[in-house]
Amino acid sequence: MYGAIEAGGTKFVCAVGDETLSVVDSVSFPTDIPQKTIPQVINFFEKYRDEMIGIGIGSFGPIDIHKESPTYGFITSTPKKNWENFDFIGTLKEEFDIPFFWTTDVNAACYGEYVAGHGKGLRNLVYYTVGTGVGGGAIQNGSFVDGFSHPEMGHMLLQRHEADNFNGTCPFHNGCLEGLASGPAIEKRTGKKGYEVSQTDVAWEIEADYLAQCAHNTTLILSPDRIIFGGGVMKQAHLLPKIREAFEKKLNQYVRTPDIETYIVTPKLGDNAGIIGCLALARDQKL
Ligand code: ADP
Ligand code: ZN
Repeated sequence: MYGAIEAGGTKFVCAVGDETLSVVDSVSFPTDIPQKTIPQVINFFEKYRDEMIGIGIGSFGPIDIHKESPTYGFITSTPKKNWENFDFIGTLKEEFDIPFFWTTDVNAACYGEYVAGHGKGLRNLVYYTVGTGVGGGAIQNGSFVDGFSHPEMGHMLLQRHEADNFNGTCPFHNGCLEGLASGPAIEKRTGKKGYEVSQTDVAWEIEADYLAQCAHNTTLILSPDRIIFGGGVMKQAHLLPKIREAFEKKLNQYVRTPDIETYIVTPKLGDNAGIIGCLALARDQKL
């Protein structure tokens, strides 16, 4: 049996599953301070202690992913209360002395789609989540893209849409993708909950423009086989065709991407991409 932890900024999902990535048991609870959340995690896995041979974790971040670093397995500079510089892996290792496989929440979702969703059979995949924040994960030739750290594509800078005079929500950057296109950005721009904004509202044109800029930049930098957009905001089914249309206009046939209907898509695994990805990290011993 494998363990999986999807550590999101809003909620945690813990699961155990088998070799085929079928979820046998799972639990979800809101992300509180670590002193409250980690005991809930341990409590869930306690009953599988003897069967579990590894745990995959996809975490909100930024996180330290470098094995040789003294703070490997830590959450690093998050604004989330009490999670800054939290030794995630070290704390769990004290309870469960088995291998841990650790990456960002979006890399985990990317890996889930890669092994069991819309990335199956492809070599290069990029996954964005557009929700409370915006994050991006990337796999190239079967490995996660990383350098001095993991990518933080959710904070790429964009050009303002001409009809948008909203300042953005990111405390770090003026005009980044997350600040302009996350769920909270839509809510602050329109004064309404995302699901209440009418399909014909210009807010969706603005949203599609920003996500199309993201796809444009991603295409030109990574040249992936496919780009997946998931997360709560993508539940607006009319948004995907709007993104594809804006993307094709912007790219202006500068490079020939795969057919647009298969190139920019929503996740096959839906909200389960992350947890299935975490199970697969443990199964495939992805570090
Ligand atoms: P999280 O990012 O916290 O893991 P989600 O991916 O569900 O969770 O994203 C939550 C965000 O998505 C919220 O800002 C919410 O307003 C927005 N959202 C959720 N459902 C919809 C919807 N149907 N239409 C538009 N926005 C939505
Ligand atoms: Zn930012």
